Order: sequence, then structure tokens, then C-alpha cells
Amino acid sequence: MTTQPRSRVSARLAAITPSATLAVDAKAKALKAQGRPVIGFGAGEPDFPTPDYIVQAAIEAAQEPAMHRYTPAAGLPALRKAVAEKTLRDSGYEVDPATVLITNGGKQAVFQAFAALLDPDDEVILPTPYWTTYPEAIKLAGGITVPVFAGADQGYKVTVEQLEAARTPRTKLLLHCSPSNPTGAVYTPEETTAIGQWALEHGIWVVTDEIYEHLLYDDAQPAHIVRLVPELADQTVVLNGVAKTYAMTGWRVGWMIGPQDIIKAATSFQSHLTSNVNNIAQRAAIAAVSGPLDAVADMRAAFDRRRRTIVSMLSEIDGFEVPVPKGAFYAYPSVKGVLGRTIRGRVASTSAELAEIILSEVEVAVVPGEAFGPSGFLRLSYALADDDLAEGVGRIQELLAEAH
Ligand code: PMP
Repeated sequence: MTTQPRSRVSARLAAITPSATLAVDAKAKALKAQGRPVIGFGAGEPDFPTPDYIVQAAIEAAQEPAMHRYTPAAGLPALRKAVAEKTLRDSGYEVDPATVLITNGGKQAVFQAFAALLDPDDEVILPTPYWTTYPEAIKLAGGITVPVFAGADQGYKVTVEQLEAARTPRTKLLLHCSPSNPTGAVYTPEETTAIGQWALEHGIWVVTDEIYEHLLYDDAQPAHIVRLVPELADQTVVLNGVAKTYAMTGWRVGWMIGPQDIIKAATSFQSHLTSNVNNIAQRAAIAAVSGPLDAVADMRAAFDRRRRTIVSMLSEIDGFEVPVPKGAFYAYPSVKGVLGRTIRGRVASTSAELAEIILSEVEVAVVPGEAFGPSGFLRLSYALADDDLAEGVGRIQELLAEAH
């Protein structure tokens, strides 16, 4: 009897695609390290330092022996309480600190939410373009992603009619992310309410990623789904973190808030996976969430200025369609009008090829739409210095002016 050779990597992990956004960022940083004048629009992180009072809280924590030990897997009680208070302040509804689980960044909260909710073959409705991590986390948890595409013509926002058309008896949950990574789209309170009522009516869970909640521009308003549809609280998991609001991407503190049974299951999982989040970072997060919102107001003003610049410069490019992003720090032009054209002897037939041509010809790093769903788009983060932003988009403008 012959035995089948066993694959070295498990099918489950072999199916995972590495994070394209981190890959673009790494490539840009590597070229920069070689001395190339690369301008990177890839990173999804603020370019500001963490405010000093938050750093000071970490320094003090590092000097306390109690912080050198394991602490409860669900998080420092003071941080869970501070997150509950911050949720009341910012989202306008009460949560019990016992329903808050502190995680290693929002990313761990994303993964644990799906792991706690999905059984094999449960379907997840995923508005598309989506943040690149969601489908991988859904797949790892055994779920099936059902993408629902909303293009530039509808401001990258799905309608209830589209959600209803995607609903089947196997639909377990809807992922809602507003403000959105990658598109910067923000659902209005009316749109959010309609989506929440649809989910409530059909018994569909909502996982709502609110990590960009404080980065809103123009007439965009906060729209926390549990405040707008309070009955949804028993079938909603809220994901959030300090990364984007307080310029703390490297500290790795996020959280999930949800019904007691879900949080309990996710906490048991986390207790085997990572135990408690780094105590020093948790103490910094307490200072962040219980402190003022001045730092995010300053960052928002800078992002808003850059947003206006990038939207107007991208809109000047023939073949680009640029819906005005109202949140987060991303612009997401549709570049379909450029595809099929020849640029310096090379044909860009997909957005991945276009991104590659832009990087190799003018040393500007952007993330192709393929990382977030269909081809035909580019994501540019405008969390970079004003001069670099103008220089980088200027290079793209000059390059694409040659396209024919
Ligand atoms: N959700 C969204 C929509 C994001 O863009 C990010 C960061 N790119 C996260 C969650 C996770 O952030 P972190 O793990 O750094 O807290």
C-alpha cells in the first residue's frame, strides 16, 4: 500500500494570502532603505507620534513590578472600564465593562469575532471593496465570504436591497465598516439605521468595525449602529482600538464589545492564544481612551487638508474617477479609464499592473484594488507629509499624462 505524501503546510494556512497592504509598505520601505526616493501611499497608519502624555503613562507602568506579571486575559479591569466609559462618551450608549475584551490590536478582535460566531459554511455578507484582512479571518474561522460590491458610482456604499439580494438561509452575519478602509466611505445615520433594522429583522449578526470613528470630514456624522438600533445590541460585536485615533499603531491595543456569551467564548480562546495584552501598552491605552480628544482633532485637521489636495490632484488625471472620501485617511479612485492604455511601452490591463508600473517608473507605492476585491482601483493613504503627498501624486500625474 502506498501512502500519500502529506503536504508540509496545512491546507488551512496555505489558503491564506499575505497582507497586500503590508507587502506594498514593506517593498516601499526596502527601496527607501536602498536610498531610492520612494514615496509610499501604502501604509494605513497616521504619520504622527503618539501624544506624550500617553507615552508617559507607559513609562510609569514599566516601572511597576505588578505590570511585569501576567494580568487577566480579558484585559486590565481599569482599561475595560475606561473603554466602557469611552463608548458612552463617543457612541452614546452604555456597556458593561464585563462585555469588553481587550485584544492585541483591532486585528485580533476581528479574528476573534469571526472565530466566536462562525460555524463551518456559515455565510458572511462582506460589502466590497473590503479591508484585506476580513476575508482571510472569515476563511480561517471556517466561514464563507459573500461579497456584495458597491462601485464608485454608488460612493462605495451598499444598499439594503443589495444586502437582501445576497441573503440566504446560511447568512450568519454582516460585516459593517464605516468609515471604511479602503474607500473612506462613510454611511449616514439614516443608511446605518436601515442596515441595522434589516439585520435585526432577519436575525443577522452585525460585526461593526469602528476603528476610524473619529476621522470624519465635511458633513459626515457619527453613526454607531447600536445607538441607532439599540435592539441590535444582543446580536452585534463592536470592534475598535487605539491605533488610528491616537496614532498608536505600534502599541497593539484594540477591543471587542459584544453579548456576554460571545465575549466569554472569545476570552477563553484568547486565554490560550495570547493571554493578556502587554500591560505597558494597556496602561498607555487607559491614558488614551480616558484622556482628551485634542490630538485626534489636530490630526483630523491635517488629514482633511491632505484629503482635499489628494482628491483634487487625482481628479485631474484623465481616466480616474474619484468619489470624495468622507472618513478615515484613504482615497480610492476608480482607474478603469486608464486600464488598457500603454505607459512607457507597457500595457496596464489591471490595477495590479498599473500599481507595479507606477512603482517601477516613478517610485510611488500605491495599493491595487485587487487587495480589497475587484481590479480597477487604487488605494492611496494620505497619512503622509503634505510635501511628499503633492510630490507623489504629481509623479503619477506626469506618468499617466504619457498614457495612450
Ligand atoms: N480595522 C480596520 C478597518 C483597519 O483598517 C485596521 C488597521 N489597518 C484595523 C481594523 C486593525 O488595526 P490594529 O490591529 O492596528 O488595531
